[in-house]
Amino acid sequence: MPEVACTVSNCKYYKQGNFCTADQIIVQNDAQGGGFGPNAQLSNLAATPANSNDDTCCQTFKNANG
Ligand code: SF4
Repeated sequence: MPEVACTVSNCKYYKQGNFCTADQIIVQNDAQGGGFGPNAQLSNLAATPANSNDDTCCQTFKNANG
């Protein structure tokens, strides 16, 4: 996986120095993101085009504090 830089420091996958340690991340657009069940085939998720980088978000985020 390519190195992913991330500044979301309260995510359980965040590592000091602004690195993501997750094996896989899912990025969707804000409008339609997160619309998949826990056993979804991630490779088959529908495309969710975005108009700008402000319209995208990481769906893999998990709060490190529960
Ligand atoms: S899973 Fe997403 S939010 Fe969490 S560290 Fe990785 S890129 Fe950032």
